[in-house]
Amino acid sequence: MTDSMALTKDTRIALNDGNTIPIIGLGTYASPDVPKSLGEEATKIAIDLGYRHIDCAYIYGNEVQIGNAIREKIADGTVKREDIFYTGKLWCTFFSPELVRKGLEKSLQDLQLDYLDLFIMHWPFSLKVCEINPDKPFVYDDVDFCATWEVLEACKDAGLVKSIGVSNFNRKQLERLLSKPGLKYKPVCNQVECHVYLSQSKLQAYCNSNDIVLVAYSVLGSHRDKNWVDLTTPVLLEDLVLANVAAKYNRSPAEVAMRFILQKGIVVLAKSFTVARLKQNLGVFDFELKPEDMKTLEDLDKNLHYGPFKEMKQHPEYPFHDEY
Ligand code: NDP
Repeated sequence: MTDSMALTKDTRIALNDGNTIPIIGLGTYASPDVPKSLGEEATKIAIDLGYRHIDCAYIYGNEVQIGNAIREKIADGTVKREDIFYTGKLWCTFFSPELVRKGLEKSLQDLQLDYLDLFIMHWPFSLKVCEINPDKPFVYDDVDFCATWEVLEACKDAGLVKSIGVSNFNRKQLERLLSKPGLKYKPVCNQVECHVYLSQSKLQAYCNSNDIVLVAYSVLGSHRDKNWVDLTTPVLLEDLVLANVAAKYNRSPAEVAMRFILQKGIVVLAKSFTVARLKQNLGVFDFELKPEDMKTLEDLDKNLHYGPFKEMKQHPEYPFHDEY
């Protein structure tokens, strides 16, 4: 638990490589039917509002637009490049050692940036082919993520990325990476799904004990994109217990859902392309949940993954067979 009243939108958490990460970040994934220009507009507005951490990925197909937004806000003097913390993700089809740097360079080129602040392996498994299209199946590959990691270390040494980390790794996979012979850099973070229905306490404890920062996605209950999310799952922001806690503080369920994760000392990502919500989500630093309400929300945990990526269940590196 952090000294939560001391948190502000500008709070940064120390990473194990000497860099820091802003505690709140803007998510930028939107389903393919959403015009990419909306992400560009939202990112510009977010930067104007004070967001400094932008989470994106090659596979979201919008790095050109998000890069435009960042560079425009640098050009108009709102921010400097060093004020922005940009996270990119290596997609699973770029895990072969000879492709890793190409994957990163593609992102840098699309963004028209010289470096990324953080570059993370999007999932622990490698794929030969990945079409986000139900008619074209995924084709598994067997590249060991430890081999991928060595090239990421070299990309950090080359100055193309400030920090390197992972996403969607379970404990055993983190252990394997941490015990890799010749490991030069530990992952700075593990970005995982984390919210009141999936509080990730055990994974957080393991990460904390190894100086790895947990970064939470789908804090608001996810994008509920039918390509990735089972739409029969309960809608997190409609949870009655969450609504009752929110009513006590005269806050929205979204604010309480975010505040809960922040008070656990976890970096929060929240996606919105709506101005009022972008503002609301940045306003979660002027109230504090009492310990009994934290406990009430902790009890909502039911190990629910909104985005279990079921198509990968047979892959040897599928991370969610283990409890955490
Ligand atoms: P979130 O849990 O952030 O929820 C986004 C949804 O909540 C949108 O529909 C948004 O609508 C709505 N919303 C935002 N603010 C509010 C509010 N205050 N009140 C009510 N509704 C609100 O979804 P994501 O799953 O997108 O996760 C966030 C980010 O995490 C992603 O965008 C991506 O950057 C990252 N991510 C990473 C993954 C990984 O594998 N590493 C996987 C999934 C996500 P609207 O836009 O209309 O406001």
